[in-house]
Amino acid sequence: MIVFKTNSELRNYLRFQKNEGRTIGFIPTMGALHKGHISLIDNAKSQTHLTVCSIFVNPAQFNDKQDFDKYPSTISEDILLLEAASCDVLFLPSVSEIYPDGSENAREYHFGHLENVFEGAQRPGHFNGVGKVVAILLEMVQPDYLYMGSKDFQQCLVVKDLCRQMGLSEKIKFVACPTQREADGLAMSSRNRRLNESQRAIAGLLYQCLVSIQSKSTQNTPFSIVAKECNDLLLAKNILPEYVSLAEAETLMPLEDFYNNKKMVALIAVKIGNVRLIDNMILN
Ligand code: AMP
Repeated sequence: MIVFKTNSELRNYLRFQKNEGRTIGFIPTMGALHKGHISLIDNAKSQTHLTVCSIFVNPAQFNDKQDFDKYPSTISEDILLLEAASCDVLFLPSVSEIYPDGSENAREYHFGHLENVFEGAQRPGHFNGVGKVVAILLEMVQPDYLYMGSKDFQQCLVVKDLCRQMGLSEKIKFVACPTQREADGLAMSSRNRRLNESQRAIAGLLYQCLVSIQSKSTQNTPFSIVAKECNDLLLAKNILPEYVSLAEAETLMPLEDFYNNKKMVALIAVKIGNVRLIDNMILN
């Protein structure tokens, strides 16, 4: 695997590869890699000639400075995992490489309703920060395929919309990859490392809530009742729910109840201690 730290070196190398007719699959990450990230690498390896992964903890998408400061960094382990997965290129830029004029001066993108609900409501400015960094990375890498995880369902919709706004929807094929889970159903996440043993032991409840919402969605139980059961279950274990919600999967318009004729997604965000976790499940 070749590691590039600057845009100019990366661009030169990728230009050469493109001229040779090779397709590029791109996986943007913030590092502290786990099997969920590696599944995106595997997808790219199977569909493209050259797999490019980036690791960049983007300050612009953290509305909580403490969350940014505590974000895990495990670069040497990440490199070993990427090499084991036969990733071809790692892009490891500094903050000034991505934002030479400061992140506040980078081009802003807006996503309407999508930036104001669920994660957008809980983390004001988060998706604008995601938009900034992904736009810059897409301009640098110019991939043919972009791989992202369905675990961050709202982020997938935001980045698809970003590609549309940048006029790249035809050029870049967006691939949403399935969520990789631990044995108890907990979605793999870099943040799981911050859970202590007792917190980790109860974290599988998020998945249990999603499974229960999915099964009740076909049983005529009103969503409000299912959501209350989930909230009560979480609170009983000292897990603080931020939202347990239902939305139309394509638009993320919130839904009050289950609809047979709509593709729906259940979304959940909680805090266990000071660790914030999110997950989701498509219902039909
Ligand atoms: P992050 O490093 O958290 O920014 O994640 C980088 C990419 O990996 C994003 O597209 C995530 O959605 C994806 N990802 C994170 N966790 C998982 C998982 N458990 N399964 C599949 N993809 C994931």
